[in-house]
Formats: sequence, structure tokens, C-alpha cells
Amino acid sequence: MLLDAHCHVDRFPNPESIAAACERQRVTTVAVTNLPSHFKVGNQHVGGLQYVKLALGFHPLAVGKQHGELEEFLRLLPVAAFVGEIGLDYSKEGASTKREQLATFRAIAEALMGTQKFVTIHSRGAEDAVLDVLAEFQIQNPVLHWYSGTLAVLERAVEQGCFFSLNPAMIRSKKGQGIIARIPRARILTETDGPYVKIGSRSAEPSDVRGVVEFLAREWNVPLSEAIGQVFENFRIIVGEATQG
Ligand code: MN
Repeated sequence: MLLDAHCHVDRFPNPESIAAACERQRVTTVAVTNLPSHFKVGNQHVGGLQYVKLALGFHPLAVGKQHGELEEFLRLLPVAAFVGEIGLDYSKEGASTKREQLATFRAIAEALMGTQKFVTIHSRGAEDAVLDVLAEFQIQNPVLHWYSGTLAVLERAVEQGCFFSLNPAMIRSKKGQGIIARIPRARILTETDGPYVKIGSRSAEPSDVRGVVEFLAREWNVPLSEAIGQVFENFRIIVGEATQG
């Protein structure tokens, strides 16, 4: 049993075989989407699966080019137990749409207020701004995916109750390792962010979270089964509360 808390199953050339592998290998996979219209299409393909959890998303870098997607997102939100990828991207790539991104993210956060869903969040170059919005709307147990901000802001995120999903690219980099060392074990999840994260020349697939949890077992000096158990305990805290809400 493994957990991939953030994977773009629909961005692989062969989404159906990726989803089938999750089922066969028992890799619980949060299949994020970049647009609510993609969530609608995906639901027809993976809606009935046990291990693949389709998430309703509106990626910050997709904001500004789309019409009617925010309305669609808000309409679909009541039926979605998993939400993502949402968030802000204030890196060079997202700088021109900062204003629209913030308006969209705030509207989504406002709609999430008082609900208890699994929410996976992009925060590149906008970590403080993301935390401001999460605090304003009291979002419960938010998951920061691929956190890459400063250690000072990381401390704030931990204090604010965030969880963190870690991927193969983070465990390879010095900066990522420094971040991981500062996160309490009870806040850690594993992810691939496939197909965007690569393992050598190929795209990371959900079962590649094994490498991340093996890294955690070494870091924590515990057996692999204990590291896997910790990750699932953390996941169940979020999802268990989600099923009540
Ligand atoms: Mn992603």
C-alpha cells in the first residue's frame, strides 16, 4: 500500500493504464485536475475506481485564459471530496496573472470555508500569499504540494496546520532535503506530481512514491512499514475528517 497524494493522471499519454496500475498495485492516488471541465471528463473514466481519487482542480497557471471555469468549479464543488490542484503561482511564469489568480483562489477558498475536504495546493513563489488566504478562510488541514519556499515561511505553514506532500524531485535536492528535515512526521504525505516530475528520462508514475517513503524510512531510522504506516495515518486524519464533513 502506497500513497500518491498529487498526480496528474490525465496528463499522461495513457491515463487509463496509469489508473489501472494504481488499482492493481494498490497505490491510493489523488488524481488532480487543472480545470473543472477536465474533472467532469475524468469522472466518466475513473469515477468508479477504488484507489484513484479524482480531484476537482483549477490550476493557477490555467487562470486567466479560461471563461466560465470558476462558475463550473463552484457548481461541482459540493460533489467533490478531493480538491486540487488549486493555489497561486507568483513565479515568472505566473506573474502576469497574479491578480486574477488571487481573485480565483480567494473565491474557491471562500467556497471551501466550513467544509472538510482533502485540498492539495500549489504555492510556488506565493507561499505567504497562499497562507494568508488559507488563514482568512480557515481552511482545515490544507496540503501544500511540492513546497519550495523559505524555511521561515515553512515554519509559519507548520504552525498554521498545513500538511506537506513530498515528491522524488524534493528528496533529490539539497533544498528539498532541508525542507523535509523541518516538517513534523505527522504532517508528511508522499506524491509524485507525475508526469511533470521525472525519474531519469521517464515520467514519475504513482508507484514511484515508494522511493520517497524509502527515503523517509532512512531519515527517520524506522522500518519501511512504519514509514508507510505514518503516511497513511496522516492521510486518514485529513480524509477521515473529510468524510464527516
Ligand atoms: Mn501538480
